[in-house]
This record gives sequence, C-alpha cells and structure tokens, in this order.
Amino acid sequence: MFNQYNLDEIRDRARAAFIGMAIGDALGATVEFMTTMEIAAQYGTFREIIGGGWLRLKPGQVTDDTEMALCIARAIVRNQGWSTGAIADNFAAWLKSRPVDCGDTCRKGIRSYMLHGTLEMPPNEWDAGNGAAMRILPAAIFSLPDEQLLQKYAIEQAHITHNNPVSDAACICLGQLLHLAICGAEKSRLRRQIDGLVARFPTFAFDPYRGLATGYVVDTLQTVFHWFLRGKNFEECLVGTVNQGGDADTTGAICGMLAGAYYGMEGIPRRWQKKMDPKVMAEIEKLTDRLLDACPLGGNYR
Ligand code: MN
Ligand code: MN
Repeated sequence: MFNQYNLDEIRDRARAAFIGMAIGDALGATVEFMTTMEIAAQYGTFREIIGGGWLRLKPGQVTDDTEMALCIARAIVRNQGWSTGAIADNFAAWLKSRPVDCGDTCRKGIRSYMLHGTLEMPPNEWDAGNGAAMRILPAAIFSLPDEQLLQKYAIEQAHITHNNPVSDAACICLGQLLHLAICGAEKSRLRRQIDGLVARFPTFAFDPYRGLATGYVVDTLQTVFHWFLRGKNFEECLVGTVNQGGDADTTGAICGMLAGAYYGMEGIPRRWQKKMDPKVMAEIEKLTDRLLDACPLGGNYR
C-alpha cells in the first residue's frame, strides 16, 4: 500500500491540475464567445494571457470557473471534511459578492438554496450545461484514490445547481480522469476511460471532432478530449482548446486541470504562471496541500 503511489509526484500533479485550471480560465476568458474565425482574424493563434474579453478582465484574472472550485475547496478545508451545506453556503456568499460572471443554471441553483435551503435541484433535462463539471477538481483531489467517494462528492456538489444525467456522467468521468492523471497514468489509459464514457453515452463521441465548444457539457467535453489527447504538451493542449472559442474559459479550465494533472508543474509555461495573480496562486497551493493531507490517500502517509 505504502509504495504504491509516488506521493511527491502526486502533490506536484494535483497542484498543477489546480493551477492549470486557473490558467486555462484566465487564458480562455479573453476569447470567450468568439468564433474560431474571429479569433484567427484578431490574433492568428491566440496564446497569451492578456485579459480583456467580454468581461473586461485584468491579465491573469480568473472567472466563475476557478472561483466556484475555490468555494468547494475552501468549504472542505474549513469544515475539515465534506459538507454539501458548507459548499452551498460558500456558493451563496460568492454570489452575494457580485462575481464577475455566473452561469444561469448556477445562479438558479444557488438562489434556490438561498431562498429554500435546497441542496439538490429537481432533475432537469435542460440543465446539461458545463457548470457542475467545471468545478469538479476539489472533489477529485479530496477523494483520492477512492472512486466510490469520488462519485458521491461529484454528484452532491453537482446537484446543488445541475441535476442531469449527462452532466453527472461528465462530472464523474472528469473526476476519474483526474484521479488517473494525478496518480501518473499514461494517455492511453486516459483514452480508455474516455472511450468508456462514450460507450455508455455515445453523445460524447468526439472523433470525428465537430468543432463545437459551447457551454453544453457534451460540446465542452468533446473539445477538451479532442485537444487534450492531441496536444503534445500543456501549452498545445490549452492553445488548441481555447482557439475553438465558444465557452473558451470553461473548456480552457477543464483542459487545464487535465493537462496540468498529466504534465505536472514542469509542463506549465513560466510566462503563463507569471501572469497569474500571486495571491490566487498561493491560495491554490495551500488549499491543494490541505485537500491532499485530508484525502484517503493522505491518510496513507501520515
Ligand atoms: Mn467563466
Ligand atoms: Mn465559461
């Protein structure tokens, strides 16, 4: 049991996943809602963290994707354990703080919690946006390496705002991919996991790639899978993803967490790390360490 995992490597990969997510968010936000043609006309290939975009962000500023993941991570660390109520409380406080952006389904679910205390929205076939999947990372880290625990956390955090079988499948699959990548699995193994999702939910099939990158979680994951599997390093994965435009901050965030977990800190370009808000980076590092110390795997080396 003890030597089954390389724990220093796991710490590095988990950090890189969280930082990669924030970087993907900050990079993609500049071109969110643009088309591939518009991006090409304005930037050629878009590859620098410069802020702006429809939200008029500062360079390196993150959006709801990273902020909601931070809400979950802080709730786990502060509560010293999993509490869906503590997560919902943090979402509510975050929404009251007038965040720079918040998706419609997320807003609806958080308002429902604030008004009625609901921790689970009713099932809704239309709530298949990517808002639950984009914030899955803390649930994945905190459940390492227990897949049952991962499924429970993935669904509970999702249903605060999104109660939909396609969203659920996306959240669980992303969580499994993160577990595998953080523990050092090869891309061929990750590919097999993705193929398993496609076998159960053929709607996620991404080969041939249709080039859609909307906020519909199916389009989002097709884009992430296509570019993550095709890219030869962190930068290639991210640049391919965000240049699809559409919901580029969210495809960027999700590809960033996967590619970060896979390539580790060494793979993340320095010039991108330097553009990020040092306070956000420091908090991410601290929270990742605390999540790891408290996860089932962490119990193995204390
Ligand atoms: Mn966003
Ligand atoms: Mn988005």
